[in-house]
Amino acid sequence: MPALERQKLILRLADAIDAEADFLAHLETIDVGKAISDARSIDVFGSIANFEYFAGWTSKLDGRTATAVSLPGETLTYTVKEPVGVVAAIIPWNFPLQILSWKLAAALACGCTVVCKPSELTPLSAMRVAQLATKVGFPDGVINVVNGFGHIIGQALATHPGIDKLSFTGSTAVGTAVGKTALDTMKRLTLELGGKSPVIVTSKANLDNAANAILSGIFMNSGQVCDAGSRVYAHACVHDELVEKLKAGAESLTIGPGLDPNSKITPLVSAAHRGRVLEHIESAHSEGASLVTGEGPGGTSREDGILRPTIFDECSDGMQIFREEIFGAVLGVARFRSLDEAVERANASIYGLAAAVYSDNVDETVQLSRRLKAGNIYINAHGLLDPTMPFGGVGASGFGKDMGPEQLDGFLTTKSIYLQLGK
Ligand code: NAD
Ligand code: MN
Repeated sequence: MPALERQKLILRLADAIDAEADFLAHLETIDVGKAISDARSIDVFGSIANFEYFAGWTSKLDGRTATAVSLPGETLTYTVKEPVGVVAAIIPWNFPLQILSWKLAAALACGCTVVCKPSELTPLSAMRVAQLATKVGFPDGVINVVNGFGHIIGQALATHPGIDKLSFTGSTAVGTAVGKTALDTMKRLTLELGGKSPVIVTSKANLDNAANAILSGIFMNSGQVCDAGSRVYAHACVHDELVEKLKAGAESLTIGPGLDPNSKITPLVSAAHRGRVLEHIESAHSEGASLVTGEGPGGTSREDGILRPTIFDECSDGMQIFREEIFGAVLGVARFRSLDEAVERANASIYGLAAAVYSDNVDETVQLSRRLKAGNIYINAHGLLDPTMPFGGVGASGFGKDMGPEQLDGFLTTKSIYLQLGK
């Protein structure tokens, strides 16, 4: 399909999503359990922006003309960019619509067709997007949604010889296995995986801003966020004051059902997942972390699927709570005495998805951003995302990028064309 027609269709899909933003937010909330206010302002709004941004790329995927330096005679040497073909997009349950848009928008812009596999826990918004795509005029077969369990449907996509590119977002354990499988049929591969993102609060931080941003960085979506800042390293001279502010802020968050517009902390996606988060909380208690606020030892008294936002202080780097991704509203805090120490401890993780720095000193922020091992660095904020900026990790957080012009390479192949002139 010609580039400008593709652009028009993608923009129409963005408009169709915009026109029923409230409905889609509702679907996302009843599926994930997330706060409806976030579903509107983050999930749905973010998806629209993503489609609108990538629609503009359809007409800008040019190759280049090379000037050959070693060939005899006269030649014309140039490259063209072509779509990789059929893309499989495997999607997690924490931001079903938004992460669908991360994959779909760029793949469509590049001229690929896409088979989306939402999480078995959260199929609704992808189904609706497929209906909207039909309504706005996408040809049959361009956008497909296949639902089912990961080990069956996801596995079938990963092994299918007709799939040319696999774009996977999910846990490191599943991503590693899926990646190996995908290589058997030589698929191109993008893996957006888990994280255990560190947060450094220096002696020169604005503590009110730091506390607010740290709280939203860990407790948004009830902690079910891949780049959540879950390990705080606070300079010893600001540590106590910061922990007081974090405690007050966490205790002021409104707990309630997802559909209540005032709720910030809402039910987790499933009882099974809630059980896993509780096991992590239990480990922190038994390993000797000190509870600041939230869920105590021996399980929760809440019966509504929600866990209280929980903060532990005096965490040490060897504790499970500081090593493993929890994917729930659980924050750990530790103290440091020198920036060298903070960097070393922050980087001592298998993951490298994101890291955050709080400081009002420009040198400190720039130098720390250079030294931290992560794909995304946030300064005096957490979790900022924009379609113009590539998102993705290093180390066990995977490879390849979603969003930004960098993502386009994942859906394109470059063909080199040599023309011998004068023959
Ligand atoms: P998950 O790995 O359990 O599942 C992700 C997707 O893979 C689902 O659609 C699932 O059905 C499918 N799947 C499961 N087993 C499969 C198999 N054998 N073959 C093929 N597909 C299979 O992840 P989740 O629990 O849905 O999501 C939480 C995880 O996702 C966390 O680790 C989180 O950090 C990560 N995540 C990462 C990013 C990022 O951009 N880096 C964004 C969001 C979530
Ligand atoms: Mn899972």
